[in-house]
Amino acid sequence: MAESIGYSDTPFLPGTKWRVHDGERPQPRIVAPGKTDTEPPSDAVVLFDGSGFSNWTGRDGMAQWKVENGYMEVTRTGDIETKLHFGDCQLHLEWAAPAVVEGNSQGRGNSGVFLMGLYEIQVLDCYDNKTYPDGTTAALYGQYPPLANVCRKPGEWQSYEVVFIRPRWEHGKLVSPAYMTVFHNGILVHLHQALMGPTGHRIVSNYDTPHADAGPLKLQDHGNPGRFRNIWVRPIGRYDQTDVRL
Ligand code: MG
Repeated sequence: MAESIGYSDTPFLPGTKWRVHDGERPQPRIVAPGKTDTEPPSDAVVLFDGSGFSNWTGRDGMAQWKVENGYMEVTRTGDIETKLHFGDCQLHLEWAAPAVVEGNSQGRGNSGVFLMGLYEIQVLDCYDNKTYPDGTTAALYGQYPPLANVCRKPGEWQSYEVVFIRPRWEHGKLVSPAYMTVFHNGILVHLHQALMGPTGHRIVSNYDTPHADAGPLKLQDHGNPGRFRNIWVRPIGRYDQTDVRL
């Protein structure tokens, strides 16, 4: 007989069929972490590992950015986006602003990471570069400045760790906005921040137009030769859809 690992005489947890310390409750599934916390774990969808653009599309159906030495670099050939679409997810990526400093404000190392192709986390070189705060590095562009400016020097690799929850509509009415939690270089810069709507420029956004439950990850070509590497995503199972915790 299997050894008991829990309790069967405890009260039920509200809204569940499980008792407190219920040994019958499903175990968390096993995910093997990477050798470091930046390497993709066993269940990650690896979108870019330095080997090419097989997972990406761009202008005329082809991602035309440069790939070398394990990174991709913007080449003024337009935005690129993943062929796979995602909704709720954990995202890891690394980026570097151009080592040769050119331009000011929004013109210095501008790029961007768009969840679902719609919700931008700004990529910009704000190491000794001032711009409007809702457009600084790691800003939720046009809406929320980050909680801190933790930029490394131009040319140095930096990381974004993101938890994104997509918006939800019922019968065309918004019931839950998009939420973003972001760490920049390991520092918390947005905590479960509710977004006002898809990213826009010089507008106040809204959720008047419902969109699909999933969309591509998009990287912005803003004309500056920024770099990206080590991009992976883990779709998140919601508590209300599964009893498996990620
Ligand atoms: Mg941008």
